[in-house]
Amino acid sequence: AEAVGGGDKEAVRAYFNSTGFERWRKIYGSATDDVNRVQLDIREGHAQTVAATLAMLRDAPDVPLAGATVCDAGCGTGSLSIPLASAGASVLASDISAAMVSEAQRQAALAAASSPDFRMPQFEVRDLESLDGSYDIVVCLDVLIHYPREEAQKMIRHLASLAEKRLVISFAPKTLFFDLLKRVGELFPGPSKATRAYLHSEKDIEEALRSAGWRVKNRGFISTQFYFAKLYESVPISSSSSS
Ligand code: SAM
Repeated sequence: AEAVGGGDKEAVRAYFNSTGFERWRKIYGSATDDVNRVQLDIREGHAQTVAATLAMLRDAPDVPLAGATVCDAGCGTGSLSIPLASAGASVLASDISAAMVSEAQRQAALAAASSPDFRMPQFEVRDLESLDGSYDIVVCLDVLIHYPREEAQKMIRHLASLAEKRLVISFAPKTLFFDLLKRVGELFPGPSKATRAYLHSEKDIEEALRSAGWRVKNRGFISTQFYFAKLYESVPISSSSSS
């Protein structure tokens, strides 16, 4: 059954507290036993997105990561929050799934033991729509794929309202080719594909950013065999940051 509106969110929460948690913890982990070829490929693609995000943020002379406040919305198992915390950022790591947050917490404790500059993130079980406050940097990786167009646009506007200097988001691009690929994928439903995947057009994402007063400063595109993501680094339209 296809859910709309708030239904998507409840389905997503339930999924990431159960089968989705097991599936994604494995994909985002480092063990190689009991991980199939597709999962390994997605792990590799996602690692590239995390690395590209870190590179974008490390390159920003106006926002040094050490001491910056960062909101990682939909932090999952902490793939991004943990390296940010190791770089000395003060991170709020939040996720709609309690299972994800406790796994992120567990991994952060392990990382803290081996990194002298580690600043333990603040962890919260919270959907990103209910986040408030103000952060130098807001990041939201691979979350918008779980929501249809209007909800995703609304989420972007909300995330933008929390950010002061940078907003970094990734999404699965909607192009003829990827749409087709997705349709083909849907012909082979597996037990773990319990949620819908929504692709987004660059136009829709940019429109949401613009209406919130933000513009894209830097773009990335990550693709492996089974993983595709556009990565946008945005800044406020009024900001004087170059390029
Ligand atoms: N951002 C992490 C990363 O890139 O490693 C995790 C990506 S995972 C594919 C998607 C995550 O988004 C899951 O942990 C899920 O629980 C979370 N999520 C989904 N909807 C959310 C919402 N409305 N608010 C906060 N988190 C959400």
